[in-house]
Amino acid sequence: MDFALTEEQQALQSEIEAFARQNLNDNIIARDRASEFSVEGWKACADQGILSMSVPSEYNDTGVDTDPLTGALAMEALGRGCRDNGLLLALATQMWTVQYPISRFGTDEQKRRYLPAMTSGELIGAHATTEAIAGSDHLALSTTATRQGDGYLLNGEKKLITLGPIADVALVFATVDADKGRWGITAFIVDLNSEGVRRVSREKMGLRTAPLGDLVFEDCFVPATNLLGSEGAGASISSESLGVERCFVLASQIGAMQRQLEESIEYAKNRQQFGKPIGQFQSVSNRIVDMKLLVETGQLLLYKTAWKLSRGESITLESALLKLHLAESFVITSLDYIRTHGGGAYLTDNEIERDLRDAVGGVIYAGTSDIQRVLAARILGL
Ligand SMILES: Cc1cc2nc3c(=O)[nH]c(=O)nc-3n(C[C@H](O)[C@H](O)[C@H](O)COP(=O)(O)OP(=O)(O)OC[C@H]3O[C@@H](n4cnc5c(N)ncnc54)[C@H](O)[C@@H]3O)c2cc1C
Repeated sequence: MDFALTEEQQALQSEIEAFARQNLNDNIIARDRASEFSVEGWKACADQGILSMSVPSEYNDTGVDTDPLTGALAMEALGRGCRDNGLLLALATQMWTVQYPISRFGTDEQKRRYLPAMTSGELIGAHATTEAIAGSDHLALSTTATRQGDGYLLNGEKKLITLGPIADVALVFATVDADKGRWGITAFIVDLNSEGVRRVSREKMGLRTAPLGDLVFEDCFVPATNLLGSEGAGASISSESLGVERCFVLASQIGAMQRQLEESIEYAKNRQQFGKPIGQFQSVSNRIVDMKLLVETGQLLLYKTAWKLSRGESITLESALLKLHLAESFVITSLDYIRTHGGGAYLTDNEIERDLRDAVGGVIYAGTSDIQRVLAARILGL
């Protein structure tokens, strides 16, 4: 077994981390307060080739193919340099829950129409599954798509949709035939500027720089050419893309956890209390070692999962364990980051407390931690 990264992978990580530090960290405190998305940051990431990494070269903006492990390493480096966790979630959402399913299940026409524009940052895409009743039970959908002429009329309300307030298009899951249960669920690429679409923005605890809200569809006409896959394939599309999303959605948080660790070590070496650096108190040093352990184990799980994906192997168990581990670890390290920095960390201006507010979202989106345990238990035969 060889854990060494190639020279190209190391160079890519250094380049992306430097890019992120230089371009993505301006005014985050003010933007967090105003719940403001960084259009410049989004465009800069597109220009850097980040959005292209989940799409084959034939349809992306860079003309470069990225294997899953290199993609995961890139997101890790992005998270190390970028303190805007909302932007990182927005990127991951579009990359893995919109672009990936279109590139995997779309027609050539759909791929050409949407993917170059999305990966170049011109078009923003959201993924709309969740409803008031369909949460963890994400196939219990009430949104319907009724055939009409050469298309469908969409009716229903989607909740908690990342990028919903600003997206141009959304991948929307709806029931075409309720009698068929999960085999009636169908995915549609919906132009959100169509008639019959209403948006409601929502305020939230963290990740405020990633706009989130409801999408309400009232007799919204969707042409049949915008059906993704075939009628009734929605559940399979959702299941495959959720598996891949679980692998990548929190990869950038490993980078964020490394940043917290480095800053905590630095602070513990320099901050003096009772005549010595606080890092010499075992309570503090133990806590920092525990942070390091979570970073190392998270990295190993991420690399193994992405490596298996690169080989075309099943990652159902690994991606559930990875999502569970990273989501819970980021909450723990974010709290430890605050504890280590003391009272100053509680002040918004010091840019430490925000990570904890942002981290909490991770235990809920892309399947709650309970649901990851349910998935893992099922695979273990329980
Ligand atoms: C920041 C953020 C971004 C999001 N972005 C999107 C998005 O872009 N698109 C989208 O479609 N959705 C999105 N969501 C919604 C998210 O996917 C759902 O909130 C999530 O699936 C949980 O559903 P729920 O909120 O209805 O909770 P529920 O499913 O009602 O869960 C409530 C509690 O019950 C537990 N529970 C439920 N079922 C089980 C079970 N079988 N076993 C054990 N415990 C169980 C849950 O773990 C949880 O603790 C986002 C959510 C957040 C917080």
